[in-house]
Amino acid sequence: MARDEHYKNGIGMTSQRTRERLLERLFEEGIRNLHVLEAIRRTPRHLFVDEALAHRAYEDTALPIGHNQTLSQPYIVARMTELLLGGGPLDKVMEVGTGSGYQTAILAQVVERIFSVERIYPLQERAKVVLKDINIRNVVFRHADGNWGWPQYGPYDAILVTAAPAEVPRELLSQLADGGRMVIPVGEQDQHLMLVVRNGEEFIYQQVEPVRFVPLLAGAIRS
Ligand code: SAH
Repeated sequence: MARDEHYKNGIGMTSQRTRERLLERLFEEGIRNLHVLEAIRRTPRHLFVDEALAHRAYEDTALPIGHNQTLSQPYIVARMTELLLGGGPLDKVMEVGTGSGYQTAILAQVVERIFSVERIYPLQERAKVVLKDINIRNVVFRHADGNWGWPQYGPYDAILVTAAPAEVPRELLSQLADGGRMVIPVGEQDQHLMLVVRNGEEFIYQQVEPVRFVPLLAGAIRS
């Protein structure tokens, strides 16, 4: 096998045992959705971080991805995906904050289509390459400020936001389909993961648990 192939499969760096331990840990922490657990089992998380950090990729911990951003810990990725799926199968999903693309990769295996928005151009370009490399094809990307969503393809059955605004952006609420679900961290110093469910013109908010995300910023940047 070529060195590249070794790297892709994580051979010699992260044993199958390490990956299995991560799954056990997620189960212990309360993740029960088998589709989500299976997606995490299959997805080579080490490809989404810098090579120097690859040996830590299967720990249940957040990791830096450059540009002052972080890849969430697997527990949070799993929890958010599970919450999003709580109302049944999903067709069109918008994601705000592509980052490394790891959360995108997990989501892409459990929903039909993803519309993913990221404000930092080089992060999104790298995510595209990795997702293509691991054969994930049901994602389209937009380089833009996700505070405004992606109205062209809305309304969405679900919206997943992976950076924290002080309040849920109005535009995102308006792009949620009736009955749709949004999972979003909200707050500044004190953040909580929220589940928002749309019922006609009404939005039902449920506070899930305390979290720590990077802020949802304004404007898109090229570098
Ligand atoms: N889900 C990502 C990590 C998220 S870090 C992963 O799995 O790697 C949060 C991401 O949200 C960063 O990439 C950051 O640039 C992006 N972000 C912050 N504000 C944004 C905005 N207004 N629009 C789009 N993306 C934004």
